[in-house]
Amino acid sequence: MPNFRTKLPNNFDLPRRIHRLGELTYNLWWVWNPYAQRLFNRIDSELWERVNHNPIVFLRSIERAAINAAAQDNHYLEIYDKVFSEFDAYLGEENTWCKREYAEKCGSTIAYFSMEYGLHEILQIYSGGLGVLSGDHLKEASDLGLPLVGVGLMYREGYFSQRISEDGWQEALNNPLDLNRLPVLPVLDDDGKPLTITMNFPDRPVALRVWELRVGRVPLYLLDSDLDENAPQDRQLTARLYWSDLNLRVMQEVVLGVGGVRALRMLGINPTVWHMNEGHAAFLTMERVREKVLEGQSFEEAVEETRKNNVFTTHTPVPAGNDEFPLWLVDKYLATLWPDLGLTRDQFVDLARHQQTWGETFSMPILALRYSEGRNAVSELHGRVSRAMWKGLWPHLPEEDVPITYVTNGVHAPTWMARRLRVLYEKYFGPDWLDRLDDPEMWEKIDSIPDVELWEIRMHLKRKLVFYMSERNRQRWMKGGFHPVQVIASGALLDPYVLTIGFARRFATYKRANLILSDLDRLLNLVNRPNRPVQIIFAGKAHPADEPGKQLIQEVYRAVKKAENGGRLVFLEDYDMNIARYMVQGVDVWMNTPRRPNEASGTSGMKAAMNGVLNFSVLDGWWREAYNGRNGWAIGDDRDPVSQGQDKADADDLYATLENEIIPMYYGERSGDSIPAEWMKRMKETLRTVTPQFSTRRMLKEYLKNLYLPAMD
Ligand SMILES: *Cc1c(COP(=O)(O)O)cnc(C)c1O
Repeated sequence: MPNFRTKLPNNFDLPRRIHRLGELTYNLWWVWNPYAQRLFNRIDSELWERVNHNPIVFLRSIERAAINAAAQDNHYLEIYDKVFSEFDAYLGEENTWCKREYAEKCGSTIAYFSMEYGLHEILQIYSGGLGVLSGDHLKEASDLGLPLVGVGLMYREGYFSQRISEDGWQEALNNPLDLNRLPVLPVLDDDGKPLTITMNFPDRPVALRVWELRVGRVPLYLLDSDLDENAPQDRQLTARLYWSDLNLRVMQEVVLGVGGVRALRMLGINPTVWHMNEGHAAFLTMERVREKVLEGQSFEEAVEETRKNNVFTTHTPVPAGNDEFPLWLVDKYLATLWPDLGLTRDQFVDLARHQQTWGETFSMPILALRYSEGRNAVSELHGRVSRAMWKGLWPHLPEEDVPITYVTNGVHAPTWMARRLRVLYEKYFGPDWLDRLDDPEMWEKIDSIPDVELWEIRMHLKRKLVFYMSERNRQRWMKGGFHPVQVIASGALLDPYVLTIGFARRFATYKRANLILSDLDRLLNLVNRPNRPVQIIFAGKAHPADEPGKQLIQEVYRAVKKAENGGRLVFLEDYDMNIARYMVQGVDVWMNTPRRPNEASGTSGMKAAMNGVLNFSVLDGWWREAYNGRNGWAIGDDRDPVSQGQDKADADDLYATLENEIIPMYYGERSGDSIPAEWMKRMKETLRTVTPQFSTRRMLKEYLKNLYLPAMD
């Protein structure tokens, strides 16, 4: 077995005393460690913003004088030494949570496969919630010391940047990633040549190379088809996320599932557990069977032996959202696989045959469900919906016994929580507060935090959001091509002292971004009331091929442009992880209005809650589990919709709660420090109940206990 490795480039010309800054840029650990970010930010904060928080570009662009000054600055050096002693301790830690709790089990590798990863805004290899969840999963696995390796694709063209035209139409700009400016490292063999694997599609081979991204202690391997030896169209294969062309989609999924297994083998990594995050990676089940069949086992024996190590997480409560392929595509791209499995074409198709009204398909979730022993949905309600949706696969079982469990999603607190709140918790909960993040007992101490300290942080975070938007707006305006009304629509008239509601998510029609606009006169009346105005910030992208999603953006944008709203309804272009951070930290209320039960979990509301933002949402996904009547507000009740009239009923409820509860509570009785006491009570109740429970800390421990450990036996 050749020895593959990555090598850190040494291409920054840094003063000796601070030369390790270069090394820091190549491990995403800095992403969730605010003091590590300070090492860049403190040298030149304007440049740090301008390079979109890319430390590699930052170090290459920084003025020599500025970096030399930092190397002479005692305060800077103090932070520098502290950060590197923490960094070294983190990477060298022997006594991780996993080792303490599970000793030798922590030696078995868990492979985690996902089509997208949202780790940081500079790495546009995610489109939305699924990716951010995967990114948070890796970060938390690293923090807990879980022996996880990630597998995904290297999308060289990234995900698109969003521009909104004056009439509200979404335009997609491609911004190719420059891998020399990103913390991805080529995996090389002993001769320094890139590691490549070859996929044999029926009519041609496609070569793939492997990149490594270091996420704390966890490596993420990304497959890339952009190689000289590939035909031009194959070089494009892994260029973008979610091609609309099904040929490319199926090929990408073969690359992820089959190629991913082969890449790990080449690297000498032999996982015990194989986790498929959504159905895209389901071909890995068959690649693992193929390995055994080639060693001489029968198909049945090989299935028996491999299935017990496979774990599958489903995220899709709508049947139409599931990935499936017409059979002609299976014939076109998988014909080399079934002979290796010892199957005929029809036997192969039977593995995941799905009878649809329009014809037969090969269903990725069916393949994953059948050939994984561990199966889970991502919230309690989604578990119920999934059991009902897939009960046909277990015809002899009553619906409640269909073997799909659930692990409710969580978010990685160190990534999403404002730095000032971290400092506050350290002060009141003690220096080990982050280790005890998921301990509800610690959060019982929330009342020991003085209201005024918490409130001041909240006010600071809102000002920061408003100033950020205004700076962004200024830059956009100066670039040209922006109509003056768009400057208003992008937040020029926002007021940092006004009750502010955030709504940011992918524009899919079931998320009903327009629900709050359904009675525009009523809304405008609420928004503009003297002494108690309301601002609403919308953000989000639609998939470029999703026409209804783009029309929804347009509908919102038209409302936003109306002079009657006084500049208080705004749309922030190009939602990404950076904007998400500003928004979930800066607004007062986080609103979510999906058509139940379509939101499998949702995670942005958790990020907001951890920052003291109150949720105001439909009782779907995670919020149904979190809401206790005192930690935010519900829209509608805890029932599945019964009629076509649900949208109207939800909208009425939304307006009524906003008018009669939320606005009066925010502007109502204020204490001597001008803090709304009732609001503060809800905020503390939110922090107390949501933070421990909806963290990836709690989530990963559940994955380990309920899914990974059983798969190791
Ligand atoms: C968290 C996040 C999401 C997912 O949010 P939902 O609540 O699931 O809609 C999508 N995009 C970005 C950039 C995020 O940070």
